[in-house]
Amino acid sequence: MLELTQNDFLLLILILFVSVFSLFHFYISTSNHEKYIKFWGLSWVMYAFSLIASIFSLSQPDSIVFISLKQICDLLNSIFLLAGTYHFIGRKFPSYWIQFTILNVIWIILAVYYDLSLIATTLLISAFIQIIAIVAGATLMKYWKMNIFGKFIIISIFFMWGIYKGSYLYISTGIMNPTLGYVSEIILANLLNLSIMLIYLQKIRKELTDSEKLFRVLAENAQDMIYVYQVYPNEKYEYISPSCERILGYKPEDFYDNPNLFTSIVRTEDNEYLEAMYDPESSISEPITLQYKRKNGDYIWTEQKTSFIKDTNGVTRIEGILRDITDRKIVEDHLNSAEKSRQTLLSNISHELRTPITSILGYITALKKGVSSEETKAKYLDVMYRKSVSLERLVEDLFQLTNFEAGKTSFNFSQITVHELADDILNKYRIDALQEKVQFELKITDDRNLLNSFIIIDTERISQVCSNIIFNAIKFMNREKENTINIRVNRWSANLDYLIVSIKDTGPGIPREDCEKIFDRFYRSKSNSMSTEGSGLGLTISKEIIESHKGKIWVYSEIGKGSTFFFTIPLYKP
Ligand code: ADP
Repeated sequence: MLELTQNDFLLLILILFVSVFSLFHFYISTSNHEKYIKFWGLSWVMYAFSLIASIFSLSQPDSIVFISLKQICDLLNSIFLLAGTYHFIGRKFPSYWIQFTILNVIWIILAVYYDLSLIATTLLISAFIQIIAIVAGATLMKYWKMNIFGKFIIISIFFMWGIYKGSYLYISTGIMNPTLGYVSEIILANLLNLSIMLIYLQKIRKELTDSEKLFRVLAENAQDMIYVYQVYPNEKYEYISPSCERILGYKPEDFYDNPNLFTSIVRTEDNEYLEAMYDPESSISEPITLQYKRKNGDYIWTEQKTSFIKDTNGVTRIEGILRDITDRKIVEDHLNSAEKSRQTLLSNISHELRTPITSILGYITALKKGVSSEETKAKYLDVMYRKSVSLERLVEDLFQLTNFEAGKTSFNFSQITVHELADDILNKYRIDALQEKVQFELKITDDRNLLNSFIIIDTERISQVCSNIIFNAIKFMNREKENTINIRVNRWSANLDYLIVSIKDTGPGIPREDCEKIFDRFYRSKSNSMSTEGSGLGLTISKEIIESHKGKIWVYSEIGKGSTFFFTIPLYKP
């Protein structure tokens, strides 16, 4: 039966301590990715093995094998400690230490094999371990910032531990009391372990506060809304960045108080995408475009992305980022509609050009094949001439419109009286109207303010507007009945004084739904334009001209009764 003395008992308790520490080190070194933790953990585990070897060597004092094993464990313990220290301070571990270690291990094996004396076996290793312990302590002290007191403690512990490690020789040869030697060594080793752990904790705490500070600075200053949603153990918002208020109008507190706030403000159609974003099973990894209702009732477009933070309990947190993309969306929509209208324009232009060209080509082919009668020839030439003229007008209209839209049109403004304008219209179009058997009337309201005022216009262009409206009236009228064109020149007071010209015809009228559209490019009302030639550009150009004069143009029409076109131009007092 093994009798335990008090000293043995003390030794056992300390060994127990070391074992518990070893397990702890083993645990943190396997669960932590940092290299230095792995090396320090390994070092401590080696120390535990070294103690086990010591116990066996005490029970079999004659065998050199256990002592040698202990020496190898001590050697590995020290070299891992040193490697961990180098990694901790972020320096490369010099490879010569590994070479020295290998040489030492070879030496021990050879010494055991040739049965050399204990002193010969341990002397070299003891010295090497002492050097390693001192270098590890000095390296740590040099590169890791701590106060002078901390430095003193660290270097003393490493140094003393190194001395004791290296003094195994005295212990094993009985120069020093073995129990006292082991107990001192274990105490020093534990102190060393404790100081390393304290430094480690200090480093972790610093890294945490640094990264927390960095995260806060980034999140608090971010334009986007950044949030962290806790899923486990209970569901709540853990962090909402202040930009939340600017983007959604809600304060971060509103989200803390109501974790379902997103769901209640997202557009109903987008709800399923929002749910999918919070579902760890969903495979959504791209940012998703969602629409939210701001606190003030406006809708905004956002781009939102979430990522899941997992641990052994599964998903514990959801990190999200929400960006306001309303402005971008408006520009995109604008570009899309601009692109669409460009395509429509191109297809309209090609259609409008192709029709007369195909027809002209048809007549030319017929003429080339030889048309018998001179009369038919003349008829064909006449049609070709008319088609060419309308083609020329179309190209001219297109050119003018493109110039308007590009802002390249120059105006020749001059100051004229309302009377002068009226006379101009009367002289220019009365004869044309009469030739078409249309009654033509023009009246100026007898208003002193109107008659004394003047307008600033480009007479050519305003005349083009009148011409377009008057010739449309003639073009679309029903020749079977009596027709009239009534022109009124009036004053119209809004926030400014305007001249208002109304041109009323007794034609077929325009359906209500087309009254606005006829000012769009190429738009011709199906109700009346089938049998007449035209491009649908005349009123678009008229609108551009009137708007360039800071006026407005519109039409009032009743099917079967006729249409009245109105346009306004600012009036100026002399
Ligand atoms: P175009 O006369 O070459 O077709 P406009 O831009 O001048 O092109 O007119 C666009 C359309 O507006 C016409 O095709 C026609 O459908 C309608 N419109 C214009 N003026 C009248 C009018 N006085 N009466 C009936 N419809 C009209």
